[in-house]
Order: sequence, then structure tokens, then C-alpha cells
Amino acid sequence: MKPSFKSEFKVSVVGCGNVGATAAYAILLAGNSTEIALIDHNKDKAQGLLLDFEHSLSLLNYTKVTASDDYSACAGSHLVVVSAGARQEEGETRLQLIEKNRKIFQQIIPAIAKAAPDSILLIVTNPVDVLVYEALKLSGFPSGRVFGSGTMLDTSRLRFHISERLCLNPKSIEAYVLGEHGDTSFPVYSSANVAGKPLFEFDGFTPAEAKQCFEDTKNAAYRIIHDLGFTCYSIGTVIREIMIGIFRDSKIVVPLSVKLEDYYGHSNVALSVPCVLDSRGIAEVIKVPLDEKEQKQLALSVKTLKSYLD
Ligand code: NAD
Repeated sequence: MKPSFKSEFKVSVVGCGNVGATAAYAILLAGNSTEIALIDHNKDKAQGLLLDFEHSLSLLNYTKVTASDDYSACAGSHLVVVSAGARQEEGETRLQLIEKNRKIFQQIIPAIAKAAPDSILLIVTNPVDVLVYEALKLSGFPSGRVFGSGTMLDTSRLRFHISERLCLNPKSIEAYVLGEHGDTSFPVYSSANVAGKPLFEFDGFTPAEAKQCFEDTKNAAYRIIHDLGFTCYSIGTVIREIMIGIFRDSKIVVPLSVKLEDYYGHSNVALSVPCVLDSRGIAEVIKVPLDEKEQKQLALSVKTLKSYLD
């Protein structure tokens, strides 16, 4: 007999390719969710994943896992992770995926919103910022419940590269990448610090080092796609952390792609800025200090992304 739970937390993953499968696995291992619905238009893919997951259940916190090609399987979800669609081929930018993936979103987002009207939609499919904006329109949900993983991944990458230079744990590095999750993303070095000490006061951390750390961050996906064909583990970990933030009502501050309202004068576009994440989704957007150069970089991300909005 299957165990019953007092409090339930259902996560649906729509699109069970490299990213969706890895995220679902990370969520399964986290052990918080009581149900995971795997949904893919290729039903065999979802079904195969289900069978493989089921064989680990005797070793993990029990989680009900289902597989389907029908979006109504999202019903009752607290969180729906959307990772369906085309991915970058070598040399392709994220923004070049827009035509293919906008069509997919027009088909799937209304169906997800109908099946799970109270859910939080976490958009992962690229170009993530443009598709957050599309998903907001297509779902009719409030913007706190439709957001993208955005530059949370780039921020994690930057913190790692800086930590290697400083020989410190990446968790101790307070530095953000904001803007587009793509070629116009930018590092916020003006306020980056470790325990309040500005990064540039650390021995050997020169502007050239900082530039290289960000270049490595910005080019990470291109390099991994060249070597491996796709990225999945770091984004799977980001999705797991966002799930935990929602599940635990954690009020963690992370950069997420959200529709801006008068952020340094910018509105009607989605891109990443620091957000407070809790059980309702994005509870608050934090306006952080940006120097003149960073404000110009923010404006460039806005201009670039707006040119892709319908
Ligand atoms: P993939 O090709 O391995 O998987 C895509 C999956 O989507 C496939 O299983 C496919 O069957 C499914 N799919 C396609 N159309 C569908 C539909 N209409 N309904 C349901 N499922 C559908 O690709 P991937 O490597 O998993 O990447 C998925 C997306 O995630 C891409 O857009 C990629 O660029 C993006 N991505 C985003 C980040 C990020 O940081 N936001 C990181 C990595 C990848």
C-alpha cells in the first residue's frame, strides 16, 4: 500500500530531455516533494524515466512518480518546471531558439495554466527571459508566479570562478550576474564582496582577473555544449534549489528572471534581478545599487530583449 502524506507538494516537469530529466532526478533526491509528474510529448521518454526512477524508490523518501504526454497531469501542482523545447546547437545563441520555442509555448502554457491554475511556473526553456514574458501573457498568472531560472546559473558559475582565484568556498562569494540569461548578461562587481570586503581588495584579484572570471561564466554554456552536447547538471541543481526555496518558504534572495516594473526606469520586459523567493513564488524584487557602467549594461539587456518581444 502506498504511504499517505499529511502535507503534499507536487512538482510537474514538462519536457523530460536532458534538463528536465536531470532536474526531476535532483528533485527526487532532495526528497521534499510527495509527487513528481513527468510530462513530455514523447510519452516513451517520460515513461522510461518513470521506470528508472521507480527502481530507486526503495532507497529514497517515497515519492509518487507519474508519466504522461497529457498536460492535464499537472493538476494539483505547486510548481511546474517548463523545460520543453529546442536547445542550442553548437554555435547557436539562446535568442536564436525563439521562433521554435515560442510556438511550443503557445501550445503548452495555456494547457498547463488550465490544469494547474494555482501553480508557480518556473520557466527554464531558452531564451528564458523572452519566454517568461510569453508565459505570463499566455497563462494570465500574476508575475510573482511566472519567472525564469535566469542568471541564477550564471551567478553560480561566476561565484565558482572567483572562488578558485581567492581559494575560498564559492558560497562565501557575494557576487551577482544580472540581466539577460545570454550574451548581454553582466557581473555586478561594484558591490561584489566576501564578508563585506570588496573583491578588488583581495590580493591578486585584479580587474583583468575579474574580466576573465566573467568571460568564463558567459562562455560556459558554449564550451560545455562543444564538449558534451548539452548542459544539465548545473541547471538541474539550480532548479532543485528554487524548488527547495518554494517548498520551505525560505525567503532566499536569488537572481531570477521576472517582469520588471520601473526597475531603474525599465518596465515591460523580463530579465534577472535579485528576488525574494518564498512559497508564493517571487515575493519581492530588490532594487540593488548599480554603478553607471552596470546601469548601461542593464539598459542594453532590456533593449536586446525588447526587440524579441511580440
Ligand atoms: P532536449 O532536446 O534534451 O529536451 C527537450 C525535451 O522537450 C524533449 O524531451 C522533447 O521531447 C520535449 N518537448 C518538445 N516539445 C514539447 C512539447 N510541445 N511538449 C512537451 N515536451 C516537449 O533539450 P534540453 O537539453 O533538455 O534543453 C531544454 C531547454 O532548456 C532548451 O531550450 C535549452 O536551451 C534550455 N536550457 C536552459 C537553461 C537555463 O539556464 N535556462 C540551461 C540549459 C538548457
